[in-house]
Amino acid sequence: MRQFDVVIVGAGLAGSMSASMIARAGHSVAIVDPNEVYPDEFRCEKIDFGQIEVLHRAGIGDAILTAATHDKSAWVTRLGRLVEKRPSDQLGIDYGRLVNTVRAQIPEEAVFIRGKVTGVENSEDLQRVTLASGESLAARLVIMASGLSNSLRQSLGMDRKDLSLCHSVTYGFDVEPEAGGSFPFRALSHYGEHPRFRVAYLTLFPIGSRLRANLFVYRDLGDPWLRAFRAAPEETLKAALPRLESITGPLRVIGPVKMRPIDLYETSGYRQPGVVLVGDAFATACPAAGTGARKAIVDAERLCNGFVAQWLATPGMGAEKISEFYDDVVKSGSDRKSQALAWRMKAMALDESAAWWLRRWASVGVGLARWASYALRSIRVDGVKPARETVRDRTQEAPSELKDQAISAAGQI
Ligand SMILES: Cc1cc2nc3c(=O)[nH]c(=O)nc-3n(C[C@H](O)[C@H](O)[C@H](O)COP(=O)(O)OP(=O)(O)OC[C@H]3O[C@@H](n4cnc5c(N)ncnc54)[C@H](O)[C@@H]3O)c2cc1C
Repeated sequence: MRQFDVVIVGAGLAGSMSASMIARAGHSVAIVDPNEVYPDEFRCEKIDFGQIEVLHRAGIGDAILTAATHDKSAWVTRLGRLVEKRPSDQLGIDYGRLVNTVRAQIPEEAVFIRGKVTGVENSEDLQRVTLASGESLAARLVIMASGLSNSLRQSLGMDRKDLSLCHSVTYGFDVEPEAGGSFPFRALSHYGEHPRFRVAYLTLFPIGSRLRANLFVYRDLGDPWLRAFRAAPEETLKAALPRLESITGPLRVIGPVKMRPIDLYETSGYRQPGVVLVGDAFATACPAAGTGARKAIVDAERLCNGFVAQWLATPGMGAEKISEFYDDVVKSGSDRKSQALAWRMKAMALDESAAWWLRRWASVGVGLARWASYALRSIRVDGVKPARETVRDRTQEAPSELKDQAISAAGQI
């Protein structure tokens, strides 16, 4: 039986990042995944500089920066009206490319095993991992980074606790102006115009030379609206966001339309010896809140930049060691924030009470105030008043503290 310090189940974002960090720290590690190259799956397509900061701490930030497309500036609408043109530090990247870029950073010393894990037997000391091929691996620690797949967790007596089934539905597709040419913005966030449309927001952002669209809606799986969108995406989009065209002009959907519903769940019974859960294997996030990739990255960085080396330095791998990771303030804070944001986004889109209407109108005011402050800042920087149309270009050159404000504002939507 081959033996390693650590065996990682799943080479998605969290697993690949963990493998890279553990191998760089000089521990022996094997990572198991059915796909040698991560397939073109519809998942997270946008990250931000906050996540890049964490990736830098893992030593792989530069590689992602090179592979992704920086949007630099974005327009924001609230209640169907343009309220803000701001600097933006979001990075568009297809999920397959993101994961494969992280995989390329895994040092050669790490062993990649193409296969499917069918069983994990855990203990206070040595863990045994069984593959579909019949091979068994031994490890002191198993990192479960197996994403949405539930069977392995179940076999360990861990339960999936559903918090909200079909919490949201995400669409991904490319768009272009119907008349050709280009849009007047580099990126756009167009929020739901009224709760009756059940839209969180549509975001348009560049990936290479394409303009990608992610649309987040709150609909049940049986809702005929989902079928209508598949059959006629342009018309259905127009009906759900009636004022969109006043910002973008007529637009055309090109290429395939991808759709994924997401259940919000967390795992129970996870405080066990020898096995630690990261990323979606621990809990999912709502794509509309945009926190799933951040959660996976934070999990991997917190686990591998300290805990793993500490745990391996002394004998045994009891549940008390594993619990240190789950109780880590940064990791647990990231989980709490992710869940809270998932519910806040949904209420912001759907709740018709006076309190939530007040919040919607407040977001209009905040957007306009920020836009004015960027414009004022560029007057002070340049000593000349920018023309209305050039605010977007000038915000790209905004001082870094202004960008920081924009990043944290983007993180709070
Ligand atoms: C449509 C959609 C849009 C999203 N948009 C955003 C967004 O805008 N922003 C954001 O932050 N997040 C977003 N997310 C969430 C984000 O993509 C995920 O939270 C994140 O990718 C999870 O990474 P992971 O490493 O935990 O799982 P994954 O990347 O899914 O990796 C799991 C890996 O485990 C492997 N595996 C599974 N079972 C086994 C087994 N038995 N043996 C071996 N290997 C196994 C799989 O092959 C896979 O490679 C989105 C999600 C979806 C679905």
